[in-house]
Amino acid sequence: MKDEHVSKNMAMYLDTAFIRKEPFGVVLIISPWNYPVQLTLIPLIGAIAAGNCVIMKPSEISQNTEKVLAEGLARYLDQDCFAVVCGGVEESTRLLAERFDYIFFTGNPVVGKIVMEAATKHLTPLTLELGGKNPCYVHDDSDIKNAARRIAWSRFINAGQTCLAPDYVLCSEAIKEKLVVALQATIREFYGEDPKQSPDFGRIIGDRHYQRVAALLKHGKVVAGGQTDDSEKYIAPTILIDVAESDPIMQEEIFGPILPIVIVPGLEEAIQFINKREKALAAYAFSANSQIINQVLDRTSSGSFCGNDGIVQTTIISLPFGGVGHSGMGMYHGKFTFDTFSHKRACLLRSDGREKLNEVRYPPYNESRLGFILSMTEVKRKGACVIF
Ligand code: NAD
Repeated sequence: MKDEHVSKNMAMYLDTAFIRKEPFGVVLIISPWNYPVQLTLIPLIGAIAAGNCVIMKPSEISQNTEKVLAEGLARYLDQDCFAVVCGGVEESTRLLAERFDYIFFTGNPVVGKIVMEAATKHLTPLTLELGGKNPCYVHDDSDIKNAARRIAWSRFINAGQTCLAPDYVLCSEAIKEKLVVALQATIREFYGEDPKQSPDFGRIIGDRHYQRVAALLKHGKVVAGGQTDDSEKYIAPTILIDVAESDPIMQEEIFGPILPIVIVPGLEEAIQFINKREKALAAYAFSANSQIINQVLDRTSSGSFCGNDGIVQTTIISLPFGGVGHSGMGMYHGKFTFDTFSHKRACLLRSDGREKLNEVRYPPYNESRLGFILSMTEVKRKGACVIF
């Protein structure tokens, strides 16, 4: 948080140059319904740490959390500086018509575009934390049992309603059967014979999302799960095979407890498959060979990457969290959250005397001063250059 003093050139040697982190002003935080506490409070904490005032707009869909945030934060935070606005699209639209100094949005890319358009009207800087289809490549040499456990955990936690969850698996025909058997065994191990009875398996947040996710079961062949119950908004942890690239499940982010397995001949085709699509929030690769993992890492792009696991990269707060391209822009978590909500102001403080030192830059100009100016303005840094 302190002013950060920086290296200077000779001409400014006696002056003070530093970067000051100053607050933007009033920040708007719009958050989604999945992990609604965390995805509202983590940006809020960073925005407060950086000195901003904040208006929060939690999701109306996770309405109990919305209520708790509205009541709880009003009790604990200075109401002159922090406010929670409840409501849905209408309230969000009205908020977005106002001028803010920074907007931090977490949600889906379609709404992200609406938010960005609104921000453009006032030239408001923003962070977009969006979603997408996170690919998960499983190479033939993987420890299939371990891969199945880690993939199943990251896909089915919170009933699949996790932005970082592996959205689909890419693997070869040769290991598909083994992977399916291992995933079936893992689902039984984690959630029992009837996952509906498991206290560790969640439900879909609301009717609209339930109907949307359930409709995705219509294509492909179910090899695990597949059961639904409208009254509970329950969708069993499900594995789908024989999924075509053109099926709806491969067109949109699933955001539910369904894992389609798409067959590719091998690593090259998996990389091509990933690169044909929008850049995802996360990409995953499983292999016993670090060179295979590194191939996927080096030749694809995504917000984050994890070799031989899913989601857990986000637990390291020294790593930035955010998307790239269609999965978002900007980053946060740990110190990155503070940086996101801080304007880095470039500051130079000079004496009002020592005018002799300035004469070289004033007209009338002549050639002989050029070398002197160059040597005075060069910043002594490895590999530095001076461009005029
Ligand atoms: P959403 O975009 O529908 O809603 C997010 C917020 O935007 C809510 O507060 C909602 O009220 C508001 N909103 C919705 N429609 C709006 C509109 N037309 N105009 C203005 N505001 C509007 O997202 P969601 O369904 O709540 O959350 C799921 C999505 O969020 C998924 O795509 C998921 O991947 C993504 N997500 C991303 C992250 C991340 O950190 N990158 C984390 C969680 C969820």
